[in-house]
Amino acid sequence: MLVAAPALALTPGAQPPPKYKVMAREILAQLVGIDSTHAHGSLGAARAIEARVLAAGFARQDVQVLAPPDHPTKGNVVIRLHGRGLAKPLLFIGHLDVVEVDPKAWHTDPFTLVEKDGYFYGRGTEDMKGDDAVLLTALIRLKQEGFVPDRDIIMAFTADEEAGGDANGVEFLFAQHHDLVASGMVLNVDDSGGRIRDGKRVYIGVETSEKLYATYEFSTADRGGHSSLPRPDNAIYELTAALQKLAAFQFPARTTATTRAYFAALSKLRAGQERTDLLAVARMVPDEAAAARLSRDPEWNALLRTTCVATMIDGGQGESALPNRAHAVIQCRLLPGETPEQTFATLTHVVGDPGVKIITDGPIDPSPETPPTPAILARYTNAADRVWPGSVVIPEMAAGASDSVYARLAGEPSYLSSTIFIEDSRAHARDERVLTQAFDEAGEYGYQMVKVMSRK
Ligand SMILES: [Zn+2]
Repeated sequence: MLVAAPALALTPGAQPPPKYKVMAREILAQLVGIDSTHAHGSLGAARAIEARVLAAGFARQDVQVLAPPDHPTKGNVVIRLHGRGLAKPLLFIGHLDVVEVDPKAWHTDPFTLVEKDGYFYGRGTEDMKGDDAVLLTALIRLKQEGFVPDRDIIMAFTADEEAGGDANGVEFLFAQHHDLVASGMVLNVDDSGGRIRDGKRVYIGVETSEKLYATYEFSTADRGGHSSLPRPDNAIYELTAALQKLAAFQFPARTTATTRAYFAALSKLRAGQERTDLLAVARMVPDEAAAARLSRDPEWNALLRTTCVATMIDGGQGESALPNRAHAVIQCRLLPGETPEQTFATLTHVVGDPGVKIITDGPIDPSPETPPTPAILARYTNAADRVWPGSVVIPEMAAGASDSVYARLAGEPSYLSSTIFIEDSRAHARDERVLTQAFDEAGEYGYQMVKVMSRK
């Protein structure tokens, strides 16, 4: 239930100079005002950004708007700020598309930025036009200040990260225009980032790995017959027996470089048994009892193990017919380092019935982990400390997938961290919003972060 409550008053952090605070808000309002859902595409938003950076003094050849010829509305814009060439370029990525809205469910117009009760409301404020506005304003500010980075800074604002995905901009740019986006490191500002809990900034998450998305299908078949003459063999019973075995099964707890660092860092912010348990799983071989206690929380469970869950089921062909077939979709999220073949073998073993046919639903790309190096975490901390002194930065693994997968597949390390502190996530939901204070301060943090990260 949505309850009208006054906005949080966080302890104040540093803000950008007034000119750039206003600019970031104007860009956010402009981007929210452009409907970039899958049906409309992101070309309009890409063109708006192109016009802004050209007006801000970027050379024509350093600003490219690109779309796949067969998806002309799925526009991307790539901007380059030239540096001294002391290191490979630094690439920032942010998507311009937003998920669909149900306007009747909203209390404001989703495609108009509305400031109310200390929040900015509008589709994309959190996911992720807020971060796009922060990055773009930082780039324009650096240009206008005459800042020359150690290495080129490239920003790519891209298409089709959300629902649809037939013209993903990051995938398209890496495949078709790699010269424009080739870099030594990719920083994605979609998701992860600052968390607010009990009215306080707790930590800034930096995602260095993500679970692998893999879908399997279970199916059973039977000769059927009339429902007046049932037999023990039954395609629906055979399938549901397999699903019951899956329901009772739990993949073993396992850790990665990222999750060990995450649990160790998080333990310092917690107390009592929870703290002890977090420390006990922050090891190469996690403590089983501690893992079992922590796994009662679905989010920690997802970090501790591969998961597979039934999400769809259908079967039978008529009310009075014994079923000829039954079928279920099993959605799995694999820990980095685990292969779809291993998961297939595990599922086959768990089901233990050759009558249940198990298949993989399409090819699955691996998503290699980017190591959470102390040097990179120190850079995030350094930038954050300039805005919120005493900031805590923690590496994270995402249970879902992001555009960082394309960078990691191309062999480029990728870190993912939003610039905006989030209190209660409403990404993809109605009445999506961000705290105005968090957005304004993100303007300063984004600027500092781009600067710090661009050092060789
Ligand atoms: Zn997003």
